[in-house]
Amino acid sequence: MPNTLHADHIQQLQTLYQGSELLVALFDTNDTLRYANPAFRQAYHLADTAMPTWVQLMRDNHARHTGTLIRSNDFETWLGSALSRRGKQPYRMMESDLHDGRWLLMTETVNEAGWMLCTAVDISNLATGERSLRAARDLALRAASTDELTGLSNRRHILALMAAQLTRPGPHCVAILDIDFFKQINDSHGHPFGDLVLVDFARYLQRQLRRSDGVGRLGGEEFMLVLPDTALPQAGQLLQHLLVGLHQPRAIGEHSHFSYSCSGGLTQLLPDDSVQCAYHRADAALYRAKQNGRQRLETG
Ligand code: GH3
Ligand code: MG
Ligand code: MG
Repeated sequence: MPNTLHADHIQQLQTLYQGSELLVALFDTNDTLRYANPAFRQAYHLADTAMPTWVQLMRDNHARHTGTLIRSNDFETWLGSALSRRGKQPYRMMESDLHDGRWLLMTETVNEAGWMLCTAVDISNLATGERSLRAARDLALRAASTDELTGLSNRRHILALMAAQLTRPGPHCVAILDIDFFKQINDSHGHPFGDLVLVDFARYLQRQLRRSDGVGRLGGEEFMLVLPDTALPQAGQLLQHLLVGLHQPRAIGEHSHFSYSCSGGLTQLLPDDSVQCAYHRADAALYRAKQNGRQRLETG
């Protein structure tokens, strides 16, 4: 077959990667590292055989003040924001600086099976004058797609992720989740505590989802999930599981056992669908879930 990697090509790639200054890493669909070359391992202080998830890799490096330089006091919010963009499109490129002072140009390529190839090249010596301008632009672009309180995608970004799925062959699902009696939570415990509940909900959702899923805050206590390559029964199961798990008491602020619930409206994207139509179906299903007693899922 022309233009195919044969076993001997792979062997050559292996030796080239071993010696290259190019950082190369391969992550599987669960975002677990499956291969990293020595340059990548050196940059992220990874032992020769360590194969952590990307989240663990970032967490460990942050704790040791190595690897990616994170310009945020709140690591969890930074992580949420990074996850809201990671692996959502077939290819993207970004700049990133390391604690050791190096400046990297990174690429992420994701295939249909959900595996991701990451590469990075040291551009510390290139066009240093333009760097701060580019960094400012990246920061502004990021802010324009991120919900400030939770670090999730904002309304615009999550709706754009939904629109992107409409151009791909399905099945894909979309859900709107709304926290139950949130006004009472604010009234009883104060608005700042309400904000902590929103952050808790955002973290909870993100923990339940795959890298390819999108999660964003539409506004107030209303959130949207975009579940690519997922049919209705599968999405229904995931959401049921999510709704049940959410109700388990957790530590939030001063409360060691705080419990709250949410209701959900779920719909599958249809051929010739629009963002508006799918949104409307999910919203109508959510309305029924509220009418039917809350803490439940309805499908539309
Ligand atoms: P339901 O179960 O029918 O959804 O009732 P609810 O009380 O959750 O819904 P309602 O729409 O009556 O109230 C939503 C409340 O959310 C009112 C508003 O003050 C509050 N809210 C909106 N945005 C924020 C926010 O960013 N932080 C906090 N703490 N509260 C917010
Ligand atoms: Mg509500
Ligand atoms: Mg609401």
